Amino acid sequence: MKIDLRSDTVTKPTKAMLDYMIQANVGDDVFREDETVNLLEERIANMFGKDKALFFPSGTMANQTAVKLHTKPGDQIISDKYAHIYNYESGGVAFNSGVSCKLLNGNRGMFTAKQVDEAINPSDYWYAPTSMVAIENTTNKGGGACWDYDELLKIKDICLNNNLGIHLDGARLWNALVAKKETTQQYGEIFDTISVCLSKGLGCPVGSVLVGNETIMQNALRLRKVFGGNMRQVGYLAAAGIYAIENNMDRLAEDHKKAKDIGGVLSKLSCIKKVEPVETNIVIFELNDDVNENEFVQKLANKNIHIISMGGHKLRVVTHLDYTNNMHEKFLRLLNKIDFTKH
Ligand SMILES: *Cc1c(COP(=O)(O)O)cnc(C)c1O
Repeated sequence: MKIDLRSDTVTKPTKAMLDYMIQANVGDDVFREDETVNLLEERIANMFGKDKALFFPSGTMANQTAVKLHTKPGDQIISDKYAHIYNYESGGVAFNSGVSCKLLNGNRGMFTAKQVDEAINPSDYWYAPTSMVAIENTTNKGGGACWDYDELLKIKDICLNNNLGIHLDGARLWNALVAKKETTQQYGEIFDTISVCLSKGLGCPVGSVLVGNETIMQNALRLRKVFGGNMRQVGYLAAAGIYAIENNMDRLAEDHKKAKDIGGVLSKLSCIKKVEPVETNIVIFELNDDVNENEFVQKLANKNIHIISMGGHKLRVVTHLDYTNNMHEKFLRLLNKIDFTKH
């Protein structure tokens, strides 16, 4: 039994999802004639109370499009030092939009309204014009942490007062909504643009969606084409998204519970220095200085359990749809049994 906890992107579509995908009505989406894509986009736009939604092949492309929509070359955007947009999109914001990032030193990927206020450049010609704030919820490198909604409201105010765009990288927003019992509407009220992933916790093989109102989204279709993201009979994949929204949302709570169990067991192991608070489906933990990171990962791999390193003596475990109760029992049992200190 292979237990893959490297990411929630490793899930494979279930038989039920595949059956649903195969019956989709499709058409050429470049002519905007794919009924299923149109339906998915309409549903997600409505969920967030926005005018428009656009289906993308990846979360990276959706985020990169958003940055391009909000900025001009030479501008500066504000993000956390842990942000996916900054760390894991291959330098795309500089490459695609010609912008720099003012990085905030947040807590587990989350910063305060005060930090944003202080990071806005003066409108003096010496400085890069600040044009956008990027927020990530849940935070990936921050260990699946969820933002405080009231702090987001305060950041929104600062953005309004300073004429800044505000984008949400909501790759795992669904997890935050389930964990904090918040709604898509609440997030639509704050953010100008939101990207969400269908291929993580929701278990789709492919797909992300960018939402926003008419004005900001006007150029999104063209930018997606510029980035090479136009697709043809892609309704089969959009159907997976519709299926996932209807069937795989509420069950995210199970992933969260399993992650909490894992965090609990890890925190009692003598070889572990610290487990970050577990709020959703990601567990990040730090090994004691004398424990070799590669050896730790390898000892689990020898038992066919796979996790990844986040660098800096930190490791990550992500629970998901394909991580079954049986796997969970086995993983917890083995964590207690393996001697991680012996060479
Ligand atoms: C996964 C992820 C993305 C998008 O990644 P893709 O692999 O391009 O779909 C964006 N932001 C965060 C926080 C992510 O975890």
